[in-house]
Amino acid sequence: MEKLENNNLENAKNNEATQTKNFIEIEVDKDLASGRYKEVVTRFPPEPNGYLHIGHAKSILFNYGLAMKYNGRFNFRFDDTNPSKENEEYVDSIIEDVKWLGAKFEKVLYASNYFDKMYECAVSLIKKGLAFVCDLSADEIKEYRGDYNTPGKESPYRNRSIEENLKLFTEMKDGVYKDGEKVLRAKIDMASTNINMRDPIIYRIARGYHHNTGDKWCIYPMYDFAHPLEDAIEGITHSCCTLEFEDHRPLYEWVVNNCDFPNPPRQIEFAKLYLTNVVTGKRYIRKLVEDKVVDGWDDPRLVTIAALRRRGYTKEAIKMFVELAGISKSQSSCEYEMLEYCIREDLKLKCKRMMAILDPIKLIIENYPENQIEEMDLPYNTENAELGNRKIKFGRELYIERDDFMIDPPNKYYRLFIGNEVRLMGAYFVKATRYETDSNGNVTTVYATYDPETKQDGRQIDRKVKGTIHYVEASTAKQVTIRLYENLIDEEKGKLNNDGTLNLNPNSLTIKTGYVEPELTNVNPYDKFQFVRAGYFSVDPKDSKPNMPVYNRIVSMKSSFKLPK
Ligand code: ATP
Ligand code: MG
Repeated sequence: MEKLENNNLENAKNNEATQTKNFIEIEVDKDLASGRYKEVVTRFPPEPNGYLHIGHAKSILFNYGLAMKYNGRFNFRFDDTNPSKENEEYVDSIIEDVKWLGAKFEKVLYASNYFDKMYECAVSLIKKGLAFVCDLSADEIKEYRGDYNTPGKESPYRNRSIEENLKLFTEMKDGVYKDGEKVLRAKIDMASTNINMRDPIIYRIARGYHHNTGDKWCIYPMYDFAHPLEDAIEGITHSCCTLEFEDHRPLYEWVVNNCDFPNPPRQIEFAKLYLTNVVTGKRYIRKLVEDKVVDGWDDPRLVTIAALRRRGYTKEAIKMFVELAGISKSQSSCEYEMLEYCIREDLKLKCKRMMAILDPIKLIIENYPENQIEEMDLPYNTENAELGNRKIKFGRELYIERDDFMIDPPNKYYRLFIGNEVRLMGAYFVKATRYETDSNGNVTTVYATYDPETKQDGRQIDRKVKGTIHYVEASTAKQVTIRLYENLIDEEKGKLNNDGTLNLNPNSLTIKTGYVEPELTNVNPYDKFQFVRAGYFSVDPKDSKPNMPVYNRIVSMKSSFKLPK
């Protein structure tokens, strides 16, 4: 099974190497061949109004990768032109995430540093007769705009003189008018079939403290005006964005062309990354945080980059995932299982494979000498000898997993039941003889006998057993907190309830106290291990204390996922 998956991955990687280029690279090649651009400059332009998520990781790694492939440049720029929703916490988290993902940039750029230049561009449009100050209210502007079937109506203020527009726009900037009293609009075409071209608003009055420019401005540029200018000012060549901006491209081109940039950038759209059964989208994630459904933006059940990192995902796994997801023009969802597949592949050889008991019951070996402790020699990772070996304690009393013993076993149950013999991993064969339960009928202790001749130390044993189970020695085992996760959304019933609220899974978090090999308490935040048979686990950076780690399960071992051909 594991071998098979490995081969699939190799195939996928090889395909990638020889694969035809994606549609954006084909466009880039054309632009370089025609001489339209001499180099490739891309950017990642987040709005600091929330934490980044896995979809943004795709945008970051794609834009960065494209620039690197063509020996070009990559800019990291905050699209911070809207003072109301933005704050420093978001700015800091976004910088941390971009760095963590490994996208290298010279310095952090801020669109708000271009406010002067944007203002100049607006003035130049007025001087060309391409922008006007409009006194219509927001509702009136909306009404005048028309819709897909009805052409828009021109504003009565559309034909103000250039002088009057210059005077009014200066007064807007100087704080003469109230918020919303006037706007600056581009003068394009109220009959355009593209509603974005119907004299869009390009500047509005909005008094609000800005995280970078403070109270300097009371007018702010609208996204559709600011964004193309930011790209043009920085000399971006290929402005790659997601599909919802396709209809905005004509306006993007109108802005950069009419603001006289000699070699304006070009916008190319690709499909957003969506995951099945997972909440992407800042708006929804914010709601989960605000409603306290989760414990912050980095709750390990979320797919923000901060949450994935905290849960134990590696940047290598995220990179593998976004590469497998690919770049395309058509909308589709990726399976969450593909992300899980990538982290398993990444950790398979890197991690030590340790013994941990998540739901313990006692196993007492009655014919094993009391007070005797043996040491068993076990490799850390049977597939990677480089990780070396360690000694495991073994004694008369062990902890084993509750579901490794059954009172009434079904067919083909090869683990412990009365009369059955199994191997204890790296040690002896044991046979269950009797058990004890608590008052609820739950098994607390299983008694067994062992066969001293069956020690797994290179000797030949003349009989076979079908089951192997793991354990930790009871007197030396350490307790740790272990957190198991399921998807936040109930997979069976779909993402939304009938009333539009999210259909949450009540079992998305389970907290356990488990017993582990002593080495597993002497760890650092983000250290990762395989707990044999249970999955991959990572030390939580926030809730762990010295010698008292909290382990987050990144992913279980089991999977039915197959790489798409
Ligand atoms: P959200 O829709 O989650 O609120 P956003 O698009 O508003 O995200 P921005 O900060 O404006 O977030 O986006 C920064 C960049 O990331 C943009 O270029 C945007 O197109 C891209 N991006 C956002 N979401 C995704 C996604 N799911 N897949 C790929 N790229 C994305
Ligand atoms: Mg946005």
